[in-house]
Amino acid sequence: MRFASLGSGSQGNALLVEAGKTKVLLDCGFSARITTARLARLGTVPGDLAAIVVTHEHADHVAGVFAFARNYQLTVYLTHGTYVAASKGRATLPVCRLINGHTCFAIGGLEVWPFPVPHDAREPVQYAFRDGQHCLGVLTDSGSITPHIVQVLGACDGLVLECNHDQALLAASRYPVRLKQRIAGRFGHLENGQAAAFLRQVDTRRLQHLVAAHLSQENNRPELAARALASALGCSEDWIAVADQDAGFDWRQLR
Ligand SMILES: [Zn+2]
Ligand SMILES: [Zn+2]
Repeated sequence: MRFASLGSGSQGNALLVEAGKTKVLLDCGFSARITTARLARLGTVPGDLAAIVVTHEHADHVAGVFAFARNYQLTVYLTHGTYVAASKGRATLPVCRLINGHTCFAIGGLEVWPFPVPHDAREPVQYAFRDGQHCLGVLTDSGSITPHIVQVLGACDGLVLECNHDQALLAASRYPVRLKQRIAGRFGHLENGQAAAFLRQVDTRRLQHLVAAHLSQENNRPELAARALASALGCSEDWIAVADQDAGFDWRQLR
């Protein structure tokens, strides 16, 4: 299994996951034009994709999902709550499969394990992906860590982990108080310290790749995220990858 990002942050998110011949896009917060260009950067054309799997209806995750799926006849997998919220006002929709946020399903050779997260959306989930050998966990857009999240992502080989903000930078930022409260709240986003605390709760002995993701361009710095995660793992800061809003990150292989 290998994975790569087309871009990560509040301006748009999309992650590519490949197992054997199956390639799946997780979220698509970019226009069809940008998505196609960034897929090409990763040696992929839209016709290679088997499906789009969606986490929740916020624009940085779904802005491009329906148009892109319609253009390339891709099936979209999402929860009922996400479907209701994201499809509102849209005349024509691609094929959508409603998923249970606690039940695993298969797309080709890829097992997809959704799990609910506390976030201010209708029925948000995040995912673990398995190919029979390895497990890739993805956790962004979660205001807090639940026991269930710790259980599902308990022993991953690869992790894409939200480090949305640094608490002090957010507190000192020019954001309105309401927005700061939303971001820092239980249904907002994980800050560096929460992401580090999560790592201390799970078994990281199998971890081959750790990518800090969904960083705020205003309220975080890549080096702060890397420092927090490295201190939790007791590893060098260079070992932690940080996903970029525009560049995403290149393919990472699980062996
Ligand atoms: Zn987001
Ligand atoms: Zn969100």
